[in-house]
Amino acid sequence: MSNVFYRSRKSYPTAVSAHGVFIQDDQGRSYLDGSSGALVANVGHGRTEVAQAMAEQAARLAFVHGSQFSSDVLETYASQLTGFLNLPSYRFWAVSGGSEANESAIKLARQYHVERGEPGRFRVVTRVPSYHGASLGALAASGMGARREVYAPLMRPEAWPKLPKPDPSLSGEADAERLRALLEKVGPESVAAFMCEPVVGASDAALAPNAGYHAHIAAICREYGVLFIADEVMSGMGRCGAPLAVRLHDPQVTPDLVVLGKGLAAGYAPLAGVMASAQVYDTVMNGSGAFKHGFTYAGHPVSVAAGLSVLDIVQREGLVDAARERGAQLLDGLRALQARHPGVLDVRGHGLLLGVILGDPATGQPHATPGAAERVAAAARDAGLLTYPGSGALDGMRGDHLLLGPPLSITTGEVTLMLERLDTALERGL
Ligand code: PLP
Repeated sequence: MSNVFYRSRKSYPTAVSAHGVFIQDDQGRSYLDGSSGALVANVGHGRTEVAQAMAEQAARLAFVHGSQFSSDVLETYASQLTGFLNLPSYRFWAVSGGSEANESAIKLARQYHVERGEPGRFRVVTRVPSYHGASLGALAASGMGARREVYAPLMRPEAWPKLPKPDPSLSGEADAERLRALLEKVGPESVAAFMCEPVVGASDAALAPNAGYHAHIAAICREYGVLFIADEVMSGMGRCGAPLAVRLHDPQVTPDLVVLGKGLAAGYAPLAGVMASAQVYDTVMNGSGAFKHGFTYAGHPVSVAAGLSVLDIVQREGLVDAARERGAQLLDGLRALQARHPGVLDVRGHGLLLGVILGDPATGQPHATPGAAERVAAAARDAGLLTYPGSGALDGMRGDHLLLGPPLSITTGEVTLMLERLDTALERGL
């Protein structure tokens, strides 16, 4: 009997090693990591230089507590990361995971308004569907019924008004105007922040609004004194073919808070964080003087050393451009698969954050009973390809879909192999 508390009662292979885009299990099987786990392993597996940077850091300075010290590695990283993201005057708040980072952003937004003498601002507007994390605050922010249902009594719905998901039939501006309508409805003076995923991840398979949406959202937020939080935990750090997905169409878009995770340390260590504008940071520091929030492992030097090494690889190997180029190749190939498999209703996304939408070809709608995504994902695993399946009808989720997002370091040949294996999986699983 295993003593491991598994996530579900399905059986899990036991991974023993990984290199590049491949993961090996204890039975000698090899899997192409077509989803980077959950869109994490951006620089691929088995990078000894990252492991070495972590080992050196652990030997030199493994831990200091944020209430007592900054660290040289954190100072260097924050400076390089703000440069990479072109957020030069921002401050980096480092934590261990995306949920912690979103909790931090939400609490920082709330505290910012209290410091400014507007304690009536407490609501955080988010979208349906969306996924912002598993901890209770981040889950309350999320519009993802299946994950929320059991815990709903622990949440306060009036604090989390929900905006519908982006509507690609609207112009970006018209789509964003729906935020204004919601703010007017709930009372803008009660709203602290609006938070969204610039390219949606787990809840709606790479759905993205039209050009102009984010710039207009930022303008509406500014007009109403509401902070704009971009949750780039999945979409950021180059995955969508730009350092930040919120700027895919307009490099001038500047959210007040940008939340990062996953690709930051690319799975080598738990690392996530919030980029806070100077205005937010200064308001808190010139007010009460302290962010009333903290985690023991915030800014952990070994995680930060991993992040620094990963950032070096991303820049040295041009992985942001690579995400755009390999992403275009993968999207082209997916379109060809869509033409061959009528059960594939749509393929979409940016860079290497791509979605394959499954459903009933007769109606063009999701299957009445979900299951296709899990079946295709299982067939893909049997064919040696890992994908990230999702399904669900609650909260306007798009039904069965697969999220695809291999490491940004994937080669053109490996993209071709990925498409061949997915073709087999669609043949067998649909
Ligand atoms: N935000 C987004 C957009 C995510 O995709 C995720 C995880 O999938 C999270 C937040 C939560 O991150 P974590 O699982 O690291 O807590």
